[in-house]
Amino acid sequence: MSDRLADTQTLIDFIRDTYAVPSAEAGLIPLHAPCFDDTEKHMVSDCIDSTFVSSVGQYVNRFEEAMADFTGAKHAVAVVNGTMGLFLAMKVVGVQPGDLVLTQSLTFVATPNAIKLCGAEPVLLDVSRKTMGLCPDSLANFLAEQTHLENGQCLHTETGRRIAACVPMHTLGFPCEIDRLVDICREHHIKLVEDAAESLGSEYRGRHTGTFGEVGVFSFNGNKILTTGGGGMLVTDDTELAAHAKHLSTTAKVPHAWHFEHDEVAYNLRMPNLNAALGVAQMQKLPAFRQQKRALAERYRTIIEKTPGLAFFDDANNDHAAASNYWLNAVLCDGAAHREAFLAFTNEQNIQTRPLWTPMHKLEIYQACLQTELPNTEWLADRVVNLPSGIPCQGAAKGGVTS
Ligand SMILES: *Cc1c(COP(=O)(O)O)cnc(C)c1O
Repeated sequence: MSDRLADTQTLIDFIRDTYAVPSAEAGLIPLHAPCFDDTEKHMVSDCIDSTFVSSVGQYVNRFEEAMADFTGAKHAVAVVNGTMGLFLAMKVVGVQPGDLVLTQSLTFVATPNAIKLCGAEPVLLDVSRKTMGLCPDSLANFLAEQTHLENGQCLHTETGRRIAACVPMHTLGFPCEIDRLVDICREHHIKLVEDAAESLGSEYRGRHTGTFGEVGVFSFNGNKILTTGGGGMLVTDDTELAAHAKHLSTTAKVPHAWHFEHDEVAYNLRMPNLNAALGVAQMQKLPAFRQQKRALAERYRTIIEKTPGLAFFDDANNDHAAASNYWLNAVLCDGAAHREAFLAFTNEQNIQTRPLWTPMHKLEIYQACLQTELPNTEWLADRVVNLPSGIPCQGAAKGGVTS
């Protein structure tokens, strides 16, 4: 084992060099710190000067337009964070208390949490080893073996519960095989909500992730490719869904110059203008961020290919259909023991590396969920380690945010 760790010296040197932190004593190299300059300061300051810092203001509209433009979606609705974005997306596609919602066990806890917030129950499916995203075969097999169609609805045969939606996630920015998932969901009358929280800037067959399902949801948490401090965005081509999401996010207030009429029990989930100002500034840099991240991934690949015991996780695994934003670069270790040794070795040197999330079926809060066999989930969770992946800039050496 120690020989193998010694073999990683070129990789360690490369990371130190990239982030200009020459030694462990010189400071922490965070997993993913945000990157700001005067553009952000000017826009946030302008927003403060305008006094429109709350849920109404031009920056919210501008940020929504920029996101619709960038992703190619017809509509975008800004919200307070990605988790509530997922909740709202499921609400507007019609997820009801008592429904089942299909998702992958290998995800951040926000995905099943948002399902639970709707009063629905997550069903945990397996991921594919080549994408780390929801495996189309796992989905198709579950539907074939455990469900049937009745009156145009997909029902779980044993419990009689309705399967209302499917929420695949584009893990670490690597697009899942979303076109196959779209076909399967359509065939079974299941709404598709994409958890695209990690995949802003990732495309599948030339089309932006988040735009394949009924609704896609992005996150702008501090550790994501683009940040608004905290924030999220729904994108959709469906004009009615977009209008309903916006309505539900603003207490379902019926527009009027002074009267307070509300026609649904609703929420306060709108993104504040102050956060949107940060978003508008960050959006201008997104194409450059994406390019820089893909260039960094290319350099990681070159080094990791020559490192014994480690394998680089590549978007070319996905039939060359995918173009990842490489939000977090990932290496595959030989197994759980090697993964632990590599995590300890790097973190002891003040280089922040992280394993994947504990799979949802291993958390006490979700272990009782309906689930299939999850061999690929466990295989990946035992092996993947994320490497520092922020845009190398001044801010990157100062701190950082990990969720
Ligand atoms: C970040 C993230 C979310 C939640 O986003 P927040 O803005 O932090 O609420 C949801 N799903 C996944 C997969 C994420 O990585």
